[in-house]
Amino acid sequence: MALVVQKYGGSSVADASCIKRVAQRIVATKKAGNDVVVIVSAMGDTTDELLDLAKQVSPLPPGRELDMLLTSGERISMALLAMAIANLGHEARSFTGSQAGVITDSTHGKARIIDVTPGRIQEALGLGHIAIVAGFQGVSQDTKDITTLGRGGSDTTAVALAAALEADVCEIYTDVDGVFTADPRIVPTARQIPRLSFEETLEMAACGAKILHLRCVEYARRFRLPIHVRSSFSSKEGTWVFTDPETEGTEMEQPIISGVAHDRSEAKITVVGVPDKIGEAAAIFKTLADAEINIDMIVQNVSAAATGRTDISFTLPTNDAQTALTALKKIQSKVVFDSLLFDDRIGKVSLIGAGMRSHPGVTATFFSALANAGVNIEMISTSEIRISVVVDEDDVDAAVNAAHQAFELDADEVEAVVYGGSGR
Ligand code: ASP
Ligand code: MG
Repeated sequence: MALVVQKYGGSSVADASCIKRVAQRIVATKKAGNDVVVIVSAMGDTTDELLDLAKQVSPLPPGRELDMLLTSGERISMALLAMAIANLGHEARSFTGSQAGVITDSTHGKARIIDVTPGRIQEALGLGHIAIVAGFQGVSQDTKDITTLGRGGSDTTAVALAAALEADVCEIYTDVDGVFTADPRIVPTARQIPRLSFEETLEMAACGAKILHLRCVEYARRFRLPIHVRSSFSSKEGTWVFTDPETEGTEMEQPIISGVAHDRSEAKITVVGVPDKIGEAAAIFKTLADAEINIDMIVQNVSAAATGRTDISFTLPTNDAQTALTALKKIQSKVVFDSLLFDDRIGKVSLIGAGMRSHPGVTATFFSALANAGVNIEMISTSEIRISVVVDEDDVDAAVNAAHQAFELDADEVEAVVYGGSGR
């Protein structure tokens, strides 16, 4: 008998008939002889709707209350799912994150899991029940308040519980058949990827591929927990993400490029005319760190404006841009830079593949493809298994398609089906 953890995203439980279909799937897994723990997201776009509602009553809702509100979305779907399963003649019990033992720090809106004590889940399994857990939420160890893990956090709940329960597999159900070589909405000929290593998946998640939450992949890698990303609308085998001891660290059978990811959620800030002196960049990035802002790419150039000075550009989540600009203005007189430029019309396109470590020429092929497509590169960053470029927002689709073609990732026929609609 195996212990299977299944996570269903918002599009898989979007309405009553979806919930009934998912209930059947869960019961089938149980009937096959498995213990089943299910993590659910809020129905469809519920979380967005609740956020809208909050904004209507207050421009700046207190974090504690916002978390209280948003976690109600998952409570609705978990209870309905438990009812649908009961209606099929099986015992199911729903649990909030707090009841399931998801213990977090007290940072509202992006809490980190610090412990998982799933006693009640184990008890339910021991009684032969199916356990349904509300995703994306926990309870703070210090304040005992309800917290949320950040948008898309149900993936992380699923992996954290799967690790704590020592599950055999964590299945992440979504509205596409797995992870694709590019977003099928942009590249219709994108192919489904059968197997991915944790490190490639981490790079993809960090580069905007919306299929898995970054922290969930980090967590799964730490515990070496295999993830199976698949569609709740079909029975096709999806994408397996795991540590493959035979190919890990070797170049055996690794495709050079696994996929192309893109991200439109970042903006670029340029600090113009920074004195070219020791410690200036440190002062700038210390200020941003103190404001808890995560920086992505950084480029330093000789200033176009003045000699003896440099321009420092960096990218960050657009949502954090206002905070960053305000923090930097405060140190303008101390660092004595000239001005700040802000550009949110950018997009990032990334090429990811473990095989690029050992294959020269990948960058040249990528950049030639972009040039042939008439796309100008604004910034570049690389890791061992990734090349990312920042381009004009309007060029993102063309850049993704050009890269996809250049590395012959296209399927012979269109195979990507998007079953749901919202993408998660
Ligand atoms: N319902 C939450 C969200 O939409 C969490 C999740 O879906 O994973 O972000
Ligand atoms: Mg969602």
